[in-house]
Amino acid sequence: MRTVYLNGDYLPEADAKVSIFDRGFLMSDGVYEVTSVLGGKLIDFDGHAVRLERSLNELEMRAPMEKDDLLQVHRELVRRNEIEDGLVYLQITRGSDGDRDFVYPSEDVEPTIVLFTQSKPGMAQSLVAKKGIKVISIADQRWGRRDIKTVQLLYPSMGKMMAKAAGSDDAWMVENGAVTEGTSNNAYIVKGNTIITRHLGNEILSGITRKAVLRFAKEAQMKVEERSFTIEEAQGADEAFVTSATTFVMPVVEIDGSAIGAGTPGAVATRLREIYLEESCKAAV
Ligand code: PMP
Repeated sequence: MRTVYLNGDYLPEADAKVSIFDRGFLMSDGVYEVTSVLGGKLIDFDGHAVRLERSLNELEMRAPMEKDDLLQVHRELVRRNEIEDGLVYLQITRGSDGDRDFVYPSEDVEPTIVLFTQSKPGMAQSLVAKKGIKVISIADQRWGRRDIKTVQLLYPSMGKMMAKAAGSDDAWMVENGAVTEGTSNNAYIVKGNTIITRHLGNEILSGITRKAVLRFAKEAQMKVEERSFTIEEAQGADEAFVTSATTFVMPVVEIDGSAIGAGTPGAVATRLREIYLEESCKAAV
C-alpha cells in the first residue's frame, strides 16, 4: 500500500480522506503538478514549483506551504514508497468550508494539499518512444485559461477516449484552424533544422518540459519558431513530437492517418529525447 501525503500527514492511501464539500471535488477548484522521478531523483522540481505558484496566484488561492517544504514532502514520499522511476502527483484545492457555494470561501479556509506517487519502472526506456505514437485531431473545446494547470481534465480525458476509439494514441486539439496542444502534452513539428511549436498564451499550458527542450534545441544550434501551425502543415512536416514531464520527448509518426516523414521516429525528436533525458537527470534533485 502506498504512503500518501494529506494536509501535513503521511498516511496509508486507504486512510487519506477529503471532505465531500471540498471545492476540488465539487467545482474542480484546484491545481496540480506532476514531477517525474528518475533514478530516485526529481526532474525539474524547481520548474514545477514555480508554475504551481503561478497557477495558485492566477486563482487567488493560498499556497499551503513554502517551496522548500514542498521539496521535502516530494523527497519523503519518493523515499517512503521506494520510487526509482515514476512520478509525484501534487494537488492543491481551495478546500472546504462545509457547504457548496459559487463564491470563494473566506481566506482562513485551509487549502487541501494532496501528494501521491506512481511507480513506473523503466519509464525512460519506453518502447513506445522507439515506435512513436499516432495522433488524431479534435476540436479544442476546453475553457480559455489553459495556462493555469487546473484539475478540470474532463475534455482532455474525452480527447484520449476519442483517440482510443479511433485506434490512435492521443489527440491534438485544434482551435481556429491551428493546433493548440496535445491532451496532456505540448505539440511540435520539425521542418529541416527548425522546430516549430505554438507560442505561449492563455490557449496552452506552458510546459516545463517544453521550456527545457527549447533551451536544449537552441544550445544544439537548432532553430526554434514559436508560432501556430495547422494539421495540414504538420502532415507535411519532416517530423512531429510531443513533450510532457512523464513522456519526455515522444515522437509522433502519424496524424489523422497520414504518416509523418518516413512514418518512424525522426532524428531530431530522437536526439532531443536523448539530450533531455541526459541533461535533466544530471540536474535532478
Ligand atoms: N499541455 C497540457 C494540456 C498538459 O496537461 C501537459 C502536462 N501536464 C503539458 C502541456 C506538458 O507540460 P509539462 O511539460 O510541464 O508536463
